[in-house]
Amino acid sequence: MMRSRIALPITLLALAACVAGAAPAQRVPPASLTLDSTSAAALRRRQPRERPDTIRAFPTRKLGRNVYAVLGDTGRGSEGRSNAGFVITKTGVVVIDALASPAQGKALLRTIRTLTPLPIRWLILTHHHPDHTFGAIVFKRAGAKIIAHPDRRTLAAEDGDDAMVSAWTGVLGLREMQGFAFADTPGIAVAHDTTLILGGTRVVIDVPGTAHTPGDLVIWLPDTRVLFAGDLLIEDGIAMVVDGSSGGLLSALDRVEALKPATILPGHGRIPANPIELIRETRCETLSLRAKMRDDVARNISMSKALAQLPPADRDRPVSRNSRVRRNAVRIFAEMEQELLHSSAESSEQKDSVAMVSCPR
Ligand SMILES: [Zn+2]
Repeated sequence: MMRSRIALPITLLALAACVAGAAPAQRVPPASLTLDSTSAAALRRRQPRERPDTIRAFPTRKLGRNVYAVLGDTGRGSEGRSNAGFVITKTGVVVIDALASPAQGKALLRTIRTLTPLPIRWLILTHHHPDHTFGAIVFKRAGAKIIAHPDRRTLAAEDGDDAMVSAWTGVLGLREMQGFAFADTPGIAVAHDTTLILGGTRVVIDVPGTAHTPGDLVIWLPDTRVLFAGDLLIEDGIAMVVDGSSGGLLSALDRVEALKPATILPGHGRIPANPIELIRETRCETLSLRAKMRDDVARNISMSKALAQLPPADRDRPVSRNSRVRRNAVRIFAEMEQELLHSSAESSEQKDSVAMVSCPR
């Protein structure tokens, strides 16, 4: 079975959960601790806790002609409800990402209905993490064709789909998950760069390769120059590579920047006033962690010592900023070891130093 993550020893995965401030394993299934979204404890701290089944519509923002963002939480990094979007074409609606549960999916659908009565014909998923896909069933039942990358692998699903659903239900609660069924398997699979004409609107799907996850898609609307980045970009500049690859993320960011988008919707958090600035910030954060881990690996420092030099992870908050940095560090440390083993370290270091020149010191 092809599983790139298998190269990562189980002990590392355990450490990843451990550094994320995981609760004891017997209380919470381990899969939930590596999910790319809110922990149960973080959700409990939210006051008042959002009840998507009672929300008429989420806030929206017009990003271009017939293009809208459905805004998630801001100021909470990856911990808040994710962003979604939609495009109103001549013949129907293209939805981009489906949020984290059937209840959230329904609220997203109600939000779309405040702006158009046209049928929901397509749902494009930027990747297969549950906080972006577990509302997909709502759109499938509404008649949408699912457009996604065929590679559904994520760490969250490592113990199987059932375990992932059960862990996620533990996070969001049964009420929010009522009516759940998987719907992220693509009806239209996109594994290579593709341009689709959907209801007369050009939708370019860029396939950057493994960056945030193996199944990443970037959605680019050339007519309005709006880009839906999925979790390649997070409002605070710390994109997670635990399921993906930091080298892959850097290449993906180069591709996204080359498109010169006028507006970017990140996977989580506020829409950046200057989209290029968020790309550069994410690149610099990634380069800087790579430089540190590369240096530690070269000096034969153990992973635990390397991690000890980083700010501590936040307890019960596996995707807080500090927790994300630490979990990325685990992944990047392993990447740097691999580079050293395969003697690609020198060229990779050179490439990084060139890119680093534009980063603030
Ligand atoms: Zn994600």
